[in-house]
Amino acid sequence: FTQQRLLVVANRLPVSAVRRGEESWSLEVSGGGLVSALLGVKEVEAKWIGWAGVNVPDEPGQMALTKALAEKRCIPVFLDEEIVHQYYNGYCNNILWPLFHYLGLPQEERLATTRCFQSQFAAYKKANQMFADVVNQHYEEGDVVWCHDYHLMFLPKCLKERNRNMKVGWFLHTPFPSSEIHRTLPSRSELLRAVLAADLVGFHTYDYARHFVSACTRIMGLEGTPEGVEDNGRLTRVAAFPIGIDSDRFIHALQSTQVQEHIKELKERFAGRKAVMLGVDRLDMIKGIPQKILAFEKFLEENQYWRDKVVLLQIAVPTRTDVPEYQKLTSQVHEIVGRINGRFGTLTTVPIHHLDRSLDFHALCALYAVTDIALVTSLRDGMNLVSYEFVACQDAKRGVLILSEFAGAAQSLGAGAILVNPWNITEVAASIGEALNMSAEEREKRHLHNFLHVTTHTAQEWAETFVSELNDTVVEAQQRI
Ligand code: UDP
Repeated sequence: FTQQRLLVVANRLPVSAVRRGEESWSLEVSGGGLVSALLGVKEVEAKWIGWAGVNVPDEPGQMALTKALAEKRCIPVFLDEEIVHQYYNGYCNNILWPLFHYLGLPQEERLATTRCFQSQFAAYKKANQMFADVVNQHYEEGDVVWCHDYHLMFLPKCLKERNRNMKVGWFLHTPFPSSEIHRTLPSRSELLRAVLAADLVGFHTYDYARHFVSACTRIMGLEGTPEGVEDNGRLTRVAAFPIGIDSDRFIHALQSTQVQEHIKELKERFAGRKAVMLGVDRLDMIKGIPQKILAFEKFLEENQYWRDKVVLLQIAVPTRTDVPEYQKLTSQVHEIVGRINGRFGTLTTVPIHHLDRSLDFHALCALYAVTDIALVTSLRDGMNLVSYEFVACQDAKRGVLILSEFAGAAQSLGAGAILVNPWNITEVAASIGEALNMSAEEREKRHLHNFLHVTTHTAQEWAETFVSELNDTVVEAQQRI
């Protein structure tokens, strides 16, 4: 009995490579959710295929990096700077990302994007073909190929063109927007058709899956069925597979001395405050950070009693710092935070602690554990794992989760969280009051509900379900013939 092999194809490999010399590389493994999810899948042996995040123009460098990565079960795809610019920064991040998150672009940028659309789309297809070429070099019969995210929507088509029998799945980690939004994309049909080449197409929520099926039926006139999308008798299975986290990793970390020490420090630091509120987000437009802070301001305005008793810690992890839109967001957030701290601070305290940086895993766990209220106000978010991680770390405290109804997580943690419309700052401000005043019994009930969900719907379970569903789908398709 040999284990089935799984080829995981994603834009970025789960390691970062730094060049130390002509033929010497140092690698750092990034322990994201997807990495631990796949390490936990028992029946399969996973290999990763993706871009290492560096430009390696020379052959000795490429060979050395390939060798170093092989030890981490990783296989590199080498993309040059021009392709990265057009495919990754251009088509992926300037076109698909905003569209899938319902973000409008400023008029000037919109026109610029329209003008370079075709060349960026061409680069996107070319890049996807480069990923396919690497998959083909390493594919062995019986392997399962799992393509990830909006960067690789063309990959299923590239793979199936070459080998109809390859088992190919594709999973989207962002929302899939309403068909009315997708309809505006010049490459709308080509993109859908490329995804439909997969055997199984997965989304975080039922809504995203439904949007995808509607896009296929309305834009291309294909037939939507409860199983998926049918085209000339060929079925592409479409379903929801909500991702989870490796909850044990967080729960165990809480017992470690490192985390315990952080917790002690934080408790001393905020001893004078009755409540600690927490936000943890990449500093991205989709996270609704300005909206969150404005809602907090409104709460302070209306609740004098709480002004010196509650503190909001906002961790804003810098992202895409070279893009003007993101720089603008950063200064906008700084301005609002400064104004509110000036308005409600005292000589010794401020209501908002805002950090423009990331925290290491242990510091993050400690923060989650000492928090009374977590505020997740994404304007759109595929799932939002921060909300899951907070719940996993709250078994002692039973804090309250205030969660945007526009995060995928609202579908799974909605019953335990207070759901809000992040655009309505009056509602968010009121929910902060509700959370601060919530009875211990109510908090207990809500927490247990979410804790049970987070500890049973784990990342491992997510990956196992997707892979086994993909295997089943292929078997069923063969039986239909
Ligand atoms: N995270 C981190 N360090 C930080 C802040 C966040 O490693 O300082 C991690 C966090 O633990 C979570 C991820 O970043 O796993 C954010 O995932 P989420 O789904 O919430 O949002 P995304 O950034 O993928 O949009």
